[in-house]
Amino acid sequence: MTDINKIKNWLEEADAVIIGAGAGLSDAAGIHYSGEKFEKDFAPFIKKYNFKDLYTSSFYPFNTPEEKWAYWAKHIYFSYYERKHTDLYSKLYDLVKDKNYFVITTNVDGQFINNGFDKDKVFEVQGSYSKLQCSTPCHNKLYDNEKLVKQLLNNIDDDLKVPSSLVPKCPVCAEEMSVNLRCDDTFVEDDNWHIMSNKYTNFIENNKQKKVLLLEFGIGFNTPGIIRFPFEEMTYTYKDFKLIRFNDKYASVPKEIKEKSISVNENINEVINKII
Ligand SMILES: [Zn+2]
Repeated sequence: MTDINKIKNWLEEADAVIIGAGAGLSDAAGIHYSGEKFEKDFAPFIKKYNFKDLYTSSFYPFNTPEEKWAYWAKHIYFSYYERKHTDLYSKLYDLVKDKNYFVITTNVDGQFINNGFDKDKVFEVQGSYSKLQCSTPCHNKLYDNEKLVKQLLNNIDDDLKVPSSLVPKCPVCAEEMSVNLRCDDTFVEDDNWHIMSNKYTNFIENNKQKKVLLLEFGIGFNTPGIIRFPFEEMTYTYKDFKLIRFNDKYASVPKEIKEKSISVNENINEVINKII
């Protein structure tokens, strides 16, 4: 059983909180990449392409850009614009809003920023569904895609294609655009990405002598080098750092930091409801 009082005490005594979040948090918030809603919303795509879930479908080699952008408009809307508000993320915001906090996340669904967190305190390392970039890329600027995504969605025909005229093209080199997600080495880190990366590093530097609570949510072993391992290392290195690791499968911590950590493998929603 999770020691709720201990979690509350650690939160209360912390001078600063760093949240690190991965896919498990958005899944717990209700944004499921497979299951009933996916099967309903993507029914025509599943029929045509035999998709199993939203993750593997994003690697599908579409024959034409018109088919690809019909799918991506649907994918982005489902994962980003349709459900900007979720209870779990807004509860997390309530939990830390009066604290000195910072967020680092590998999630690309904008849930932190869209549920109250200050965008100047959220480092989205792997990009965002809400931005487009040049696919080449010939320059490092990002472009909001909300208007385009809605336009694409309204123009998907019975063959699951969008009109060629709506396929987004780079304003500089006229090549096709792509979604700003880190899938390979064409990922664009724009000026803001570097600013946020520096803010994250500075936040740690400025607080390393203080009582810092690291709250880690839903991070497995896809990209553990971004958040999971550094959180363990900071807990080990800095005297007054503590770690609470929420993970339904991999909540354990190395024995060297056991005394300074709490492992939570129960449902994130239930535990957060008890803390608040
Ligand atoms: Zn370009």
